[in-house]
Amino acid sequence: MKKLVVLGGGESGVGTALLGKAKGYKVFVSDNGKIKKTYKDVLLNNEIEFEDEQHTESKILNADLVMKSPGIPDKVALVKKIREAGIKVVSEIEFASNYTDATLVAITGSNGKTTTATLTHHLLKQELDVGLAGNIGDSFAKQILEKDHQNYVLEVSSFQLDDIDLFQPKIAILTNITPDHLDRYDYKFENYIASKFRIVENQTPDDYFIYDADDEVISNWLDQHQIQSKKLPFSLTKVIEEGAYYNNKEIIITIDNNKIIMPTENITLEGKHNIKNAMAASTVAHLLKIRKQTIRESLENFQGVEHRLEHVLRINKVQYINDSKATNVNATYFALESMDAPTVWIVGGVDKGNDYNELYPFVNEKVKAIVCLGVDNKKLFEAFGNLVDIIVETQYMSEAVKIAYKVAEAGDNVLLSPACASFDLFENYEDRGRQFKDAVRNL
Ligand code: ADP
Repeated sequence: MKKLVVLGGGESGVGTALLGKAKGYKVFVSDNGKIKKTYKDVLLNNEIEFEDEQHTESKILNADLVMKSPGIPDKVALVKKIREAGIKVVSEIEFASNYTDATLVAITGSNGKTTTATLTHHLLKQELDVGLAGNIGDSFAKQILEKDHQNYVLEVSSFQLDDIDLFQPKIAILTNITPDHLDRYDYKFENYIASKFRIVENQTPDDYFIYDADDEVISNWLDQHQIQSKKLPFSLTKVIEEGAYYNNKEIIITIDNNKIIMPTENITLEGKHNIKNAMAASTVAHLLKIRKQTIRESLENFQGVEHRLEHVLRINKVQYINDSKATNVNATYFALESMDAPTVWIVGGVDKGNDYNELYPFVNEKVKAIVCLGVDNKKLFEAFGNLVDIIVETQYMSEAVKIAYKVAEAGDNVLLSPACASFDLFENYEDRGRQFKDAVRNL
């Protein structure tokens, strides 16, 4: 019996363990941290051996195959030893995709993965049997085991792509590339870019690559590298003959000379970045032969994803918007860009080496006051102090919202779009977003 060691006892680890066991592996799960009780119960019920708060090397270095969860960096000593021992290391998508014949749509990028994946799933599920997996919801491995679908939409992080070997999506989407997670890539942007492009490395001319043609990082890479995939770019700014573009509030998609036109006036998603996401998702839908009318209706009734430019409440004609998921400058750029009224902006948290320059024009034009919400707000004061009349700081969400409430006037927006990670004051971005919404509801 071959031995599969699963490093990490979270959603993807436990899913992989279950699938591995079903496929005849002897499985051992090892997690350096604490495994959640719900996951422990699953492992116990399925008689899968595991350990937590430790790694017993003797039980790991004799593996035939290791599945490493995406959160575990390569520089961890144990991972180095595993590689030195010549044991193959794969990610969950690599492992699991061996056990399904489904059509795979894989979505990666620095921002917009969850939104695009959820929207794509929403469009496809109207007419197809399709699962949504990857970094969202139930693990891919578990879904294959429990009820395999004919199609999957997978949200794929660069960490998942780092450990693929043969993973070959029928349709790959690259939403954009901006510097992020560089600590995992030796602080070299080119390493992170290369990791994202691994999504096409096993594609053939029968497979499709959908990408943002306005993104210079992507275009430059494509100028310098040959890929096999059939390219379907999308653009906000130029006419695209094969692929999608935006003109006069319409999305025009052409695949093999078959053109469809989608009006966007009635879609609920806001902002140019969401037009991009809609172009990518609709291109997939058109490729997979979803009817035009279905695509149009589904774009219009898609309600967006929590914590992404989520409209919370309108109080005294002030709109409160939760964009807690904006954990980097690029995401906040699109949030500020999409503001159509004077905005009180709540920003701050753990700065990942942010360069705020690109936000200056929007701050000048749209932001009337800034509420800094972080442990250390010095950099924000330095960056924006001269651009706005009102800039204050607090370490409490409830207070941040109260200040915003006082400053905002009828017709304004209050926007939480932190451009930073949340770990200084919150458990995670979801916690931050929920606290924001609670504070707004308590006004
Ligand atoms: P991801 O899963 O890649 O983190 P999300 O869909 O969760 O992406 O969105 C993360 C943040 O980026 C949100 O603040 C959202 O409003 C913003 N965003 C969404 N789509 C895009 C895009 N295409 N380009 C830039 N920012 C985006």
